[in-house]
Order: sequence, then C-alpha cells, then structure tokens
Amino acid sequence: MTQVGQTSTAGARLKGRRIVITGGAAGIGRRTAALFVTEGAAVTLIDRDASRVAAAAAQIGMLGIAADVTDATAMDAALHKASDAMAGIDGLVTAAGIMWRGSVLDVCEQDWRRVLDVNLTGTYLAVRSFLKEVFEGTDATIVTLGSAQGLHPDAANRSAYAASKGGVVNLTRALAAELAPHIRANCVCPGLVDTEMANGVRGNLGNYALGRMAEPVEIAHALLFLTSIESSFITGATLAADGGRAFH
Ligand code: NAD
Repeated sequence: MTQVGQTSTAGARLKGRRIVITGGAAGIGRRTAALFVTEGAAVTLIDRDASRVAAAAAQIGMLGIAADVTDATAMDAALHKASDAMAGIDGLVTAAGIMWRGSVLDVCEQDWRRVLDVNLTGTYLAVRSFLKEVFEGTDATIVTLGSAQGLHPDAANRSAYAASKGGVVNLTRALAAELAPHIRANCVCPGLVDTEMANGVRGNLGNYALGRMAEPVEIAHALLFLTSIESSFITGATLAADGGRAFH
C-alpha cells in the first residue's frame, strides 16, 4: 500500500506488490519482470507466445499465461487467473507490442488495423481486464509502453506504429484523469532498445544525444520507478526514456 513520501530500500522497492506484465516473454517485458522480482514483487507474465512465456516465467519462478492482448475474453481470463495466483493484482505494465515498417502507401488496411489492434486496443483491453480485478483503494499503478515515435514521429515509414503509440500516450493521460486518486497511470516512451523489435535498424542513431540504443534493463528501471511508491505524486506523465532523442 502506498504511503506518501515513503522511500524504499533497494531490493525491496516492490515488496508485497503483485504485477502483471503483458509482452513478458521477450525484450523489455521479460527484463522488467526479472527486475521486478529482484525488487520483491510477485509477477505474472502474459504473452501470445506460449512456449516463450512459459520459459520466461519458469526462469524467474513465476506464472506465465499464454494470451493475445487483442482477445478480450482471453485477457479477462488471464487477469483473473493472475489475480487468483497472486491473491490480487495492484500493478500492470503493458509491454506487448508490434512494429510495422513501410511507407504509408505500402501499409495495407489489414496491416494498419493489426498494428492499431495490438498496440492501442490491446493496451485498452489489458487495462480493462486489470480494472476488473483491482479493488478500489488499493493504490494501484498502470504503466504503458509508448514510444519515441509516439512523441516525435520523425522516422519515415512508421505511420501505423507512430499513430498507435500516439494513441497509447493519450490513452494513458485519459486513464490518469479517470482513475485518480486510487490508480496512477503513466507512460514510458523508449527510443531504440536492443530487442528483437529493433532488429535491422541499429545503425540509425544520429538523432540520439547519447548516440546509442538502450539496453532493455534501462527501460525496466523507468518502469520500476513509475510502478514503485517513489513515484507516488506522478500520474498522467509521459517519460521519454530515449537517450535524448525527443529533445535533440
Ligand atoms: P519484443 O518484440 O522484444 O517483445 C514484444 C513481446 O510482445 C513479444 O514477446 C511478443 O510475443 C509479445 N506480443 C506481441 N504481440 C502480442 C499480442 N498480440 N498479445 C500478446 N503478446 C504479444 O519488443 P520490445 O522491444 O520488448 O517491445 C516492448 C514494448 O516496447 C512494445 O510495446 C514496443 O512497441 C515498445 N517499444 C520498443 C522499442 C524498441 O526499440 N525495442 C522502442 C520503443 C517502444
């Protein structure tokens, strides 16, 4: 339970917290789960990739559930199962997402709808299923994954992805207004992170002040801060964790 102004001991920043992470089988979600466990949390991983989510969960001794974030019924069942397993839920990180690269003329309607469906509607569905399991007054947290492309969409051939992530940024602000004061909602917007999603675009770092891409753990630390009590007066914020790309 959050206590205003409280700081926590390293290694126990999430002690007693029960967090669901979508997209937990790989990349940022998987690294975040490992960090959260070392900070005392119970976590449940949700991912559409059944074998990888099982392996990722086994590695940290936690529950992994195979579910697609675009499937409302499956997400309700997954969050319910997570709540049963952890005796409640008081945090959500929405890291499930997909990239799409191609010009605005190349993106066919089907691809456009799929990117919006996974990245934006999938975030909404995860939040909705989460809210059904959270009890009023629990001081819960939601942290969404936007993108530097959702803040400053200057990279060519990312129109569907940029639109979906701009939607995530604004959805998160709307959630912060709607769910206060019991639930805080914040968005982390990474620049390029060294995961499978970033394969093939590693050379394009000229607009990053720090001149490099991030390691997944660097994004996990931003997610940790916004999930922990140390961010108790922060809601509706959009945190660019992007090596200086947004201002540079
Ligand atoms: P990743 O591809 O390494 O991992 C994404 C995970 O999401 C995978 O395990 C995948 O199976 C899962 N997933 C995809 N679609 C799903 C669905 N419909 N239902 C359930 N699970 C699904 O990607 P990542 O780099 O770890 O990205 C995590 C989040 O961070 C994404 O939202 C991404 O858009 C965002 N992001 C990534 C970068 C980057 O450079 N890697 C930059 C900015 C934002």
